[in-house]
Amino acid sequence: MRSFFLGFALSLLAGSVALAQTPPATIVIHGGAGALAPGRYSPEEEAAYKAKLTEALDIGYSVLEDGGSALDAVEAAIVLLEDSPLFNAGKGAVFTREGKNELDASIMDGASLNAGAVAGVVKVKNPIRLARAVMENSEHVMFARDGAEEFAKQQGLETVKKKYFYTDKRWRAYKEALQAEKQKSDKESAMPAGFKYGTVGAVALDKNGNLAAGTSTGGMTLKRYGRVGDSPIIGAGVYADNKSCAVSSTGHGEYFMRLTIARDICAQVEYGGRSVEDAANDVIHNRLDALGGGGGVIALGADGSYAMVFNSKGMFRAVKSESGVVEVAIYGEAAK
Ligand code: ASP
Repeated sequence: MRSFFLGFALSLLAGSVALAQTPPATIVIHGGAGALAPGRYSPEEEAAYKAKLTEALDIGYSVLEDGGSALDAVEAAIVLLEDSPLFNAGKGAVFTREGKNELDASIMDGASLNAGAVAGVVKVKNPIRLARAVMENSEHVMFARDGAEEFAKQQGLETVKKKYFYTDKRWRAYKEALQAEKQKSDKESAMPAGFKYGTVGAVALDKNGNLAAGTSTGGMTLKRYGRVGDSPIIGAGVYADNKSCAVSSTGHGEYFMRLTIARDICAQVEYGGRSVEDAANDVIHNRLDALGGGGGVIALGADGSYAMVFNSKGMFRAVKSESGVVEVAIYGEAAK
């Protein structure tokens, strides 16, 4: 009898240890941060944004639920957001100063620290797929412009006519931004008032405990020739390491590059023993604030803890976890 109870107690203990060792499969996504105060969108527009975020969340989460990899979940969620004209990535990307769409994207595997990125592509339908192909099928980490297009062709990735990325909404915003700029000093023009960053990103933790992160963007409205932002820069717009966390950024890319925001968060977690939430808050509310930059991050720890932090008025964001959490939000304070 005693040995029965001992065995029972031991198996309970083993069960709880196994549970403790298996972090909850989780996906966190964002659709950009910026001047998103209540009232900016009609109830119908809000519903459309939330529906698309939910769809991306569900697609990514179902990959994880089926035992798929964090990388596959991140890619699936981002492809859906790239294909939606609502966000500034893929279709619906913002316009450069010359009135073009130039896309940047990156992806990183937390298990191997392998990464892939592309900058300034103009014909690849889903830049996140190209970033993944760079990671998996080339010896390099980043391809830019014509070379990236050439690699896409070799990889057999879907390409589209340039006008595929065009939307009336972004064209109007481009025209307005040009107009507004004329009334401002040179310095102010770097960041138009009411600016909204619509980059998309995802971070995921799979059932094997692997983390991945990805980011895709059209960059910033009126960006100058050849300008590359933080989104395809490993350590700034994206980072993933199973030892610490996975991060995707959105905001005024120049600041995110100067602060290597994504890597900083993971380094604080790994070397400083900080929680993902504390590290994300520090980087956004102390370091980014101090430089005068705007934007936000999503971050997901190897233990399943997560943070969605921004210093702008809002950030399109959503999370779904095996732990039971489901949240889709646009506005408001977000300590978490
Ligand atoms: N971070 C992006 C960039 O600077 C913009 C964004 O997040 O919307 O290119």
